[in-house]
Amino acid sequence: MAGVSRLQYTTEVRLIRVMCSGRVDLEFVLRAFSNGMDGVFIGGCRLNECNYITHGNYHALNMVLLCRKIMEHIGLNPERLRIEFMSSAEGILFAEVMSEFGNKVKELGPLGKGEGIDQNGLKSKLAEITKLVPYIKVVKNEKLASRLVNPEEYDTLFTKDEIDKLFSEVISYYIDPEKCQACMTCAKRCPVEAIISAKNQIHVIDQEKCIKCGTCFEVCPPKFSAVTKISGEPVPPPIPEEKRTIVRKTKKEKGEKDKE
Ligand code: SF4
Ligand code: SF4
Repeated sequence: MAGVSRLQYTTEVRLIRVMCSGRVDLEFVLRAFSNGMDGVFIGGCRLNECNYITHGNYHALNMVLLCRKIMEHIGLNPERLRIEFMSSAEGILFAEVMSEFGNKVKELGPLGKGEGIDQNGLKSKLAEITKLVPYIKVVKNEKLASRLVNPEEYDTLFTKDEIDKLFSEVISYYIDPEKCQACMTCAKRCPVEAIISAKNQIHVIDQEKCIKCGTCFEVCPPKFSAVTKISGEPVPPPIPEEKRTIVRKTKKEKGEKDKE
């Protein structure tokens, strides 16, 4: 409507159209900042006016509330991220909000510089958090699905302490080489092929690829219990390739051992 009515608003925006505000993933926002955007604005349909049962605008709202706390955690001003709900007929409102947001971002200055954060440090923090997005979504799944009715609750959905804790106690998964029996169950079930797997080879998790979904931990047979959960501590280095072969005892050897 703003375009059709030839309304004037800031020219420093790049519009990206999506089918639903709920489609804007946390990763997209972090990637926009990683790519040097100084601010991100999300426009969604008015809450409770969604034509579908999905109510994607609530997902977008919760994602923004979470992302703003993450921004605080890494020292970025959360006002660089804004969400507003409006109908497609509200062109005047859209133009006003865009201009206001454009002015706000200009006032805040370039991303990171305005906050006095070292650019390289900021880039690596953003990259680190972007990698953790699937994990964050699993851990905060319930809150991300909530529907807040009262705007006064927005600021309390996620707290700064909670987000600080989330990053200080990041869970990692590790396969204990002493226990792994190379049954291959975990490798078959890993959604991102993060487990280095081969017949009769001790399995190893590629920590770079792992999205910390916990599936391997759940599916490793209890008689092996080879996958361990590590919280907030470094993961032990992987067993060297040349030491991964499992030498299995034959039935005869086992029998002899039993006799002894
Ligand atoms: S935690 Fe999930 S992603 Fe990581 S290795 Fe296990 S199954 Fe794969
Ligand atoms: S499921 Fe457990 S025992 Fe089987 S390969 Fe994976 S870590 Fe090893």
